[in-house]
Amino acid sequence: MAIRPPRWVSATLAVAYFAALLVPNLILVYLSAEPYGTATRTIAPSLALITIVLAISGRIWIAVLLTLPFALLLPVELFYILKYRAPLDSQVVGAVIESNVSEASAFMAGLWTPLWSSMLAAAMAWTLALASAKSSRLAWKGRTRAWIGAGAIATAGIIFFQFPADPMDPGGSALNEPREVNLPGRLAQFEGSFPSGLFLRLGDYYEARRIQATLRAEDNVAGFGARQSGLVAERQVYVYVIGETGRRDRWQIGGYSRPTTPLLESTPNVVWFTDMVTPWALTRLSVPVMLTRKPASDRSFGSKGLSMISAFREAGFKTYWLSNQAPFGRHDSPISAIAHEADERAFLNVAALSQQGSYDGVLVAPIEAILRRHEPRQLLVVHTLGSHFPFSARYPAPYERFTPSPRDGQGESINDRSQAQQLNNAYDNSIVYTDAVISQIIAALQSAGGVSALLYSADHGEVLYDGACPMIGHGSAARLNFEVAAFAWYSKRYSELFAVNVQALRENARKRTSTENLFATMLGMAGIVFPGDDASRNLFSPLFSEKPRMVNAIGFVDFDRSARGGSCDMLMPGIGARADNSPGR
Ligand SMILES: [Zn+2]
Repeated sequence: MAIRPPRWVSATLAVAYFAALLVPNLILVYLSAEPYGTATRTIAPSLALITIVLAISGRIWIAVLLTLPFALLLPVELFYILKYRAPLDSQVVGAVIESNVSEASAFMAGLWTPLWSSMLAAAMAWTLALASAKSSRLAWKGRTRAWIGAGAIATAGIIFFQFPADPMDPGGSALNEPREVNLPGRLAQFEGSFPSGLFLRLGDYYEARRIQATLRAEDNVAGFGARQSGLVAERQVYVYVIGETGRRDRWQIGGYSRPTTPLLESTPNVVWFTDMVTPWALTRLSVPVMLTRKPASDRSFGSKGLSMISAFREAGFKTYWLSNQAPFGRHDSPISAIAHEADERAFLNVAALSQQGSYDGVLVAPIEAILRRHEPRQLLVVHTLGSHFPFSARYPAPYERFTPSPRDGQGESINDRSQAQQLNNAYDNSIVYTDAVISQIIAALQSAGGVSALLYSADHGEVLYDGACPMIGHGSAARLNFEVAAFAWYSKRYSELFAVNVQALRENARKRTSTENLFATMLGMAGIVFPGDDASRNLFSPLFSEKPRMVNAIGFVDFDRSARGGSCDMLMPGIGARADNSPGR
């Protein structure tokens, strides 16, 4: 060593280096509404880990050497926390790895330069700390090493067992959604800690991949033998927009008094489904029903059989999955297992569901880019965030039409009934934005020309402290969770080529329908047939017929014949007084 820095300089550098590794935790504590608990879950385990590494290493330069991966990830973690107010997690990693639409990954390009340069700076700081500790022969000697090391292990153990084994997920419980845990519940609470939580996040990522591989294996069955009936020589584009938390009675186009969907209201060739229900009030169970032939009665996690995406592929379509939701993780694995059937996928949201993240408008540019590819047959499945809580985090400021309402999810508390009016306003504003996003997609289809059609259906509704109902959110047996917004749009050229379909659609749209019909309906929209298909479920067919609409409420009940109870209109087993509940029927 040419230069030997004074010991105090090396010691200060080493302390600064290890303290810097803990900074992400300090920011999380600062941002937290519950700083003591957050500090216990974040600072404490990582401080214990660093203490243990130092105690085992003895010589400080070895401890610095061992922590190189933490130093390199530190800027990434800091960047993510400052942008999204939450630690980086497995679904962010998944979003980057799972996306393969080149147009979509362009949005990441701007992030690379600051990330790489800050990682380079971190590497230089690490090198400095390492070299100075080595040349000054900094070491932790004596008996304190063993005692403090053992104390750190004991403290980590005490903290670990101080937390409940099966906690309520702060996002999931607010949404009344059971948490799909990749890691055991107690471990999962420490994922946010840096750097100790990195090991847990890695475990979570591999567990999520394992779950998804299992789900995909279940679906690894024979294809449909699907083909398009009748030859359409022109270019065709079909779009399936999966809505999120879209409650039917809040859409102006469905009769709501507030102007929440002014653009769709003035769009020709939009057909509203007046009475569609979903069998599930939970995303991860309702979406597979919309895309596959999974029956409403099937309570299992996977989807059992291929989705309509594979049928489109067999019929010669290039298939795309564009999502503003997460690629996998807490709520998403069963859905992204279906996404894997698509030729190309893009997951555009790298923030957790409970965070601000990206607005659904992020989907529009990649859709326009895909339409510019001029492939003769395209299917686009678009998974939106729609109106999912926090409602005010789902739309940009210009769409804040109904006030007072919170902004950007700040201060929005779904459990605070005194916010009922603000929450309702924010919810309605999110529909105003959805109206704009879907109208932009329709405009893109119109300018692409040719034969095109779009189907929108929400996965479930939402309860919003309606009347005397003390509840909000979805997942419960309340009637409003099951009544979903749904509509179809078709281009002028579509109506010329598929006149029979359009006629049938307009008649069937007023009937009692279920999202169980949408697999057959999407294929019917494109005139795709296969041996054993069921025209009686196809809303584009004159052969469509109403069926009992079984839903998973308090028990598995017939929506139209269930009893209703309490201020939240809960669906219950038994023959209800009203066999027909839909307004105007
Ligand atoms: Zn949902």
